[in-house]
Amino acid sequence: MGQPLGICKLCLEEKYLHRSHILSEFLYDAFYDDQHRMVKVELSNPYDTRPRTGLWEYMLCKACEDLLGAYETSFKTSWYTEGKQPKLTLPIHVINGLKYREFKLCMLSFLWRASVSIEAPGFSTVQLGVHHDERLRKMILNGDPGEELDYPFLCTAVFNRDDKTIVEAISEPVPLKSKEGHRTYEFQFGGCSWVYFVSQHSLRKLFQLEKWYLTKEGTLPAIVKYLDEHQPSLAFSKALKRRPMR
Ligand SMILES: [Zn+2]
Repeated sequence: MGQPLGICKLCLEEKYLHRSHILSEFLYDAFYDDQHRMVKVELSNPYDTRPRTGLWEYMLCKACEDLLGAYETSFKTSWYTEGKQPKLTLPIHVINGLKYREFKLCMLSFLWRASVSIEAPGFSTVQLGVHHDERLRKMILNGDPGEELDYPFLCTAVFNRDDKTIVEAISEPVPLKSKEGHRTYEFQFGGCSWVYFVSQHSLRKLFQLEKWYLTKEGTLPAIVKYLDEHQPSLAFSKALKRRPMR
């Protein structure tokens, strides 16, 4: 079957549209062994660990797919090939050497794709609204990762207590509001929980104790937790109350 002609959601031009994944295909790879069987299901896992490879819709043109693909490759390379995915070093693992621009644009593209997708199941909880959808669209299209406090995200790496392996799971994003009134969405992929901050008021004050976000120097502190002590929706508010590191 041919590709449908339509308006690409990123460049807004009428083009042949490709099957666009909301989250990169490689994030689902960790669920499978060599025979493409699902490796493991943690019954105690609060997340939905059922792998779904069908999470796509006709959304982007070839050029825009390639643009996002380059950001995704940077994430995949640093996370898995270079081994920057957090290690089990309680209570904090500081990741260094990330490429601010590419890594952040990849992260922002997940948030944006989840928000603008209409048909792909599992992402309807993410509704950023026209203002943020459009702002993110321009940032991603122009390759502009923004400032550190533009849509920052907090990272919590989650491990199984029994075999000390990282929990590779993908969950339906959860919208949350912190008690300070910040609008956030929590995603789970790449062995980590990611809390994106969408509202921007007083973020500087919120993060005054510690930079719990990706810096332009390529540093990202990850909170490290065992699955049985990780309460997804509370992780970030607890972290923010921590004392600053040296
Ligand atoms: Zn396009």
